[in-house]
Amino acid sequence: MHKIAVLGSTGSIGTQALEVASLHRDEIRITALTAHGNTEKLFEQVRAFRPAMAALTGKEVEIPEDLRFCQWYFGSGALEKVALQCDAESVLVSVMGMVGLSAVLAARKTGKKVLLANKEALVAGGKLVMDVCRDENGEKVLLPVDSEHSAIFQCLEGAQGNPVQEILLTASGGPFRTWKKQDIEYATLAQALGHPTWNMGRKITVDSASMFNKALEIIEAKWLFDVPESKIHVLVHPQSIVHSAVRFRDGGVIAQLGVPDMRLPILYAMTYPRRLETGARELDLASVATLTFAEADTEKFPSIALARQALRAEGIMCCVLNAANEEAVGAFLEEKIRFGDIYRIVDGVMQKTENRQIMCLEDVLCADRAARVLARDMIRTLI
Ligand code: NDP
Ligand code: MG
Repeated sequence: MHKIAVLGSTGSIGTQALEVASLHRDEIRITALTAHGNTEKLFEQVRAFRPAMAALTGKEVEIPEDLRFCQWYFGSGALEKVALQCDAESVLVSVMGMVGLSAVLAARKTGKKVLLANKEALVAGGKLVMDVCRDENGEKVLLPVDSEHSAIFQCLEGAQGNPVQEILLTASGGPFRTWKKQDIEYATLAQALGHPTWNMGRKITVDSASMFNKALEIIEAKWLFDVPESKIHVLVHPQSIVHSAVRFRDGGVIAQLGVPDMRLPILYAMTYPRRLETGARELDLASVATLTFAEADTEKFPSIALARQALRAEGIMCCVLNAANEEAVGAFLEEKIRFGDIYRIVDGVMQKTENRQIMCLEDVLCADRAARVLARDMIRTLI
């Protein structure tokens, strides 16, 4: 039995993780679950999976009589407590936002494997995460869940240690791929939430529309695969069938393909290196017929250039970019700012921040807090 804790179990990734886990109840046991504010959904999941531990990271609520069999935690420190104390071999970190970082570090403190969907943890604290996630006795302790990174990881399984010449990081291009820059500026919330190929949580859906998702993924790839940003090439591939690829010295390219369905990378991380049934439909290449690729328009989507700039600066800049983006997307989701303001806020906060090196978690948390204060100030001036 593989014991797995799911942090952020009520979200898009979390619910799909529970769905694939329930296909394999003879192999996977869910031992802990957490949500932020969606109490009813978490209660339902606890009834169905009967974990030994559960947490609500939002406010404390009265636990129904029939759910008192499990140990409950509440509030902001609850995520870390569950990651640290739960009885699990692996922790799927599928919460939204930079709160995932402390959970990743806590899971590693007690030697658990991290199945990482939460990209913000790596973006904000990549160095800290990678310092505690080195392979142990040839065993992977950090398994990517993000579809592109799972794809790259799978491509590298066939690399036999040959060095990577270039990572080809694919992007659907989001709902505004064919829009003019001036129209993107005024895109509405409903338009930004209409992703053409993936069905995801609201924050990452807005990130996909702004291409900040790809920007965060460049940073994520840099840390996971130890490749400089100059060797990470973004390719717009609207069909979302090639999830990413790796080019080697001899010119050979290994790609990973599949239908756009997160259940595949989620279950692959859960059962690696084995591949089990996911319930996903089969890829029918003949009916897909055409796969297209194009360069990303970095003029129209300044997010990618901002990520490259942050990576080149090193230090706290990626954390600053992430914090400003989280705040800006939060304000856009509340319809307080325009879509185009997201870029302005991230750029503005990065410009106003003096770079520093990251030595410990407190450096990251401190940079994150300061960037959020700057972002909120900018948002106030824009409202
Ligand atoms: P969702 O918004 O759907 O779900 C987020 C989960 O995190 C929910 O369980 C939510 O609880 C919980 N949560 C929200 N805020 C907090 C908080 N402050 N503290 C603790 N828990 C919190 O997001 P997704 O599932 O779409 O994404 C999760 C992560 O995975 C993100 O980092 C995203 O970038 C990444 N990812 C997602 C993909 C996807 O297809 N969805 C693909 C690749 C990566 P509640 O429901 O109670 O609010
Ligand atoms: Mg992705």
